Amino acid sequence: MNLPAAKLVDCQAEIAVSDIGARHESGERAVFCGLTSIIWLHRKIQDAFFLVVGSRTCAHLIQSAAGVMIFAEPRFATAVLEERDLAGLADCHDELDRMVARIVERRPEIRNLFLVSSCPSEVIKLDLENAAQRLNSRYHGRIRFFDYSGSGIETTFTQGEDSCLSRIGRQLPTATDETPSLLVVGTLPDVVEDQFQRLFDALGIGPVAFLPPRSLSDLPAVGESTRLLLAQPYLGETARVLLGRGARLLDAPYPLGAEGTLEWLRAAAREFNVDEALFEQITAAPLQRARLALEGYRERLAGKRISFLPDSQLEIPLARFLTRECGAELVEVGTPYFDRQILKAELPLLPPQTRLIEGQHLNRQLDRVRETRPDLTVCGLGIANPLEAEGLRTKWSIELLFSPIQGFEQAGDLAELFCRPLLRQQKLGF
Ligand code: SF4
Repeated sequence: MNLPAAKLVDCQAEIAVSDIGARHESGERAVFCGLTSIIWLHRKIQDAFFLVVGSRTCAHLIQSAAGVMIFAEPRFATAVLEERDLAGLADCHDELDRMVARIVERRPEIRNLFLVSSCPSEVIKLDLENAAQRLNSRYHGRIRFFDYSGSGIETTFTQGEDSCLSRIGRQLPTATDETPSLLVVGTLPDVVEDQFQRLFDALGIGPVAFLPPRSLSDLPAVGESTRLLLAQPYLGETARVLLGRGARLLDAPYPLGAEGTLEWLRAAAREFNVDEALFEQITAAPLQRARLALEGYRERLAGKRISFLPDSQLEIPLARFLTRECGAELVEVGTPYFDRQILKAELPLLPPQTRLIEGQHLNRQLDRVRETRPDLTVCGLGIANPLEAEGLRTKWSIELLFSPIQGFEQAGDLAELFCRPLLRQQKLGF
């Protein structure tokens, strides 16, 4: 596909021009913090417990985000640290150890425990890396402790996953086998992972492992024979850790939509020397199903003007999907971070003249949404309601993290998520 690269245009903002010419805005921000990612990470890693070390606000966030699960035995909790001075920090460590002991006593099946730090100042002063090391020696390997940051300072909610996976990445065993293997990196719902595994098997690509795995007792090895295929576009830190372990990153668009999925699989197929005819044969039927599923939604989305406010870091692949496969027009594509390395294959697929903004200056971006009045604005939860009240239709970007959207079989569902607010508007007649 040799389309011209998207042009980054002036948006009359506070701007620093980076080496790729990306426009950068900074100012007020409205984002969820990385603790949110515990919700999908703990569903995926079935033998992990997440202990947030934070404030009552953190506890409320986790409980309300995962509210429906409080009736089951949750695999997450919050150790609430009240305000205290530096002299009280030793007590904090004792309290943390006591809390861990209580959890372990009550849940003897726990084999992996993540200590997740947050942004209150008392927590920032605590060294959770040290705490994890101390607990690792205390429990003699019976329970493995990891630490990572879910802080909301200068981060977005998907970075919680990046922070978690980069920590796991540092502890993966070293691959000794020289046979090339594929490591798919990024949380995928089990149903999607199974579909991809079947396609890789049919193509003869393997061995294949997924990070995170469903169980941390199955940690994949990483080394110079490892080829990385990112399933999520917000894993820059994790990718850098794995590249530092000798792995090689495959350039591919993300597996969103029929085209994205096809090209994502093709990147792996090329690397593993899969015969082109076999590739066409194996992908033909699911590709056809995906295209058929998209047809009905394309009618509804064609010509619709869509804006993305920076939030999930999925914005660029989603914008590519909406414009190329659904016929939508992009008014503006805002993304919290623009990682040139891991979005290399996506940028040329955006239409020329796409207004691409990195960073957030909330008021200016909202002013532009009010001025341009797109048919749909993809944005954070906190911004959606005020925009709806002004007669603008919105889609919560966080919903895209909680829904299976990757792969051929989910292409129609992905398009439907963007159609729903438009359909509701039509039905309600406003
Ligand atoms: S980590 Fe920070 S932003 Fe997130 S809930 Fe806790 S206090 Fe709030």
